[in-house]
Amino acid sequence: MQDVVEKVYEQVVARNRGEVEFHQAVHEVLESLGPVIAKHPHYAEGALLERIVEPERQIMFRVPWVDDAGQVHVNRGFRIEFNSALGPYKGGLRFHPSVNAGIIKFLGFEQIFKNALTAQGIGGGKGGSDFDPHGRSDAEVMRFCQSFMTELARHIGPSTDVPAGDIGVGGREIGYMFGQYKRLRNSYDAGVLTGKGLAWGGSLVRTEATGYGTVLFAQSMLATKGESLEGKKVLVSGAGNVAIYAIEKAQQLGATPITFSDSSGYVVDEAGVDLELLKQVKEVERGRVADYVERRPGARLVTSGSVWDVPGDVALPCATQNELDGDAAATLLRGGCGVVSEGANMPSTPEAVEAFQKAGILFGPGKAANAGGVATSALEMEQNAGRTRWDFATAEAKLTGIMADIHDSCVAAAEEYGRPGDYVLGANAAGFTRVADVMIAHGIV
Ligand code: NDP
Repeated sequence: MQDVVEKVYEQVVARNRGEVEFHQAVHEVLESLGPVIAKHPHYAEGALLERIVEPERQIMFRVPWVDDAGQVHVNRGFRIEFNSALGPYKGGLRFHPSVNAGIIKFLGFEQIFKNALTAQGIGGGKGGSDFDPHGRSDAEVMRFCQSFMTELARHIGPSTDVPAGDIGVGGREIGYMFGQYKRLRNSYDAGVLTGKGLAWGGSLVRTEATGYGTVLFAQSMLATKGESLEGKKVLVSGAGNVAIYAIEKAQQLGATPITFSDSSGYVVDEAGVDLELLKQVKEVERGRVADYVERRPGARLVTSGSVWDVPGDVALPCATQNELDGDAAATLLRGGCGVVSEGANMPSTPEAVEAFQKAGILFGPGKAANAGGVATSALEMEQNAGRTRWDFATAEAKLTGIMADIHDSCVAAAEEYGRPGDYVLGANAAGFTRVADVMIAHGIV
């Protein structure tokens, strides 16, 4: 790391003690910026780097709610409004017991550059709570969402900050939060949240967008080598929104996804995942992966190790951060994996990324490969603003075009800075320069 960026990194660690995921995300971006600053030293002037690593605003609040037995619970809510150079803060809400300020900060920081890559005029933000929706009734989830939105509502708005879903936040939660926002504001601001239901301002393809985009990114990377996904064995982790639609798009492109997972274990289905059954179990019944195995002859549930122990051609980590470490990367490489496209945010540890890059395989980092979700959220905002709705084919064509542009921007930036084929450098450099140029134009703010 160059001296100038090293200093900024040390300051981040000292100022944000114990927030290891945030340190990791900042380190990865700053490390990539060496060649950028060397070529364009003005990006290190005016404390631009110091400003870009400091959130514009951090909100933390109490979320009290009452369970079905009448017991009162107190969770913690977060919204990090990280950077608004390119547009209103935009990024999802995560409900998971592991959520803390450092996790939301890492996600918000990644979001700045991801959103810049989409070229859609959206800034970076993220939020969530340490609330665990697993095992909670609909009524409990509703009361939690209403309490959460009661505080969040004063901070967000269609031109200010536009949250969406993430882990633990899907259509049901967005619905409860939108209902409460509308009641508090006495205003039908459809553009205040994305991931809405189709009957009340949602966009076709938003549900599918992140998973689809991750697979389209893998396909674009393969195309640079004259290959495609056709006939490839695909390993997917997670069994939520991103994983399910990554499996769907991979199947459409002629590949065979053979795995998925949740926190109870992973499933190997060598015959190819039965997508309808998986959707039934996960989306309709909100069940566990074991429920799939019970109804699917030939599929097996594994409760030790990880999905990366299975040999395959393409890996799509779609569960959570740091789910794929250096050992798992070595196992994947031994098993013949030649492509990794990250559906989740920062699922590969730095050791894993290094192993993939050393081996020279195609590695698409999350901030580029999973940008299809937020890109389609921006399309949803566009439709809300124009009071219109596009059909599926129109929305999907736009998503496909945006993913191709993101891929090409990464390739071009990697070449410009002397590391052809390095999508990590390409994504960070392309995203950073777009945000930095506008921050410079806006002056010291
Ligand atoms: P969901 O809540 O729909 O699904 C998450 C899946 O990952 C579940 O199967 C869950 O299992 C599993 N998982 C989560 N945490 C862990 C953990 N600590 N250990 C093992 N398994 C875990 O979330 P999404 O599919 O929306 O999000 C998945 C990833 O994609 C996240 O990293 C998110 O930030 C990223 N992402 C999502 C976008 C979106 O549009 N939804 C956009 C861009 C990125 P279990 O239910 O057992 O916890």
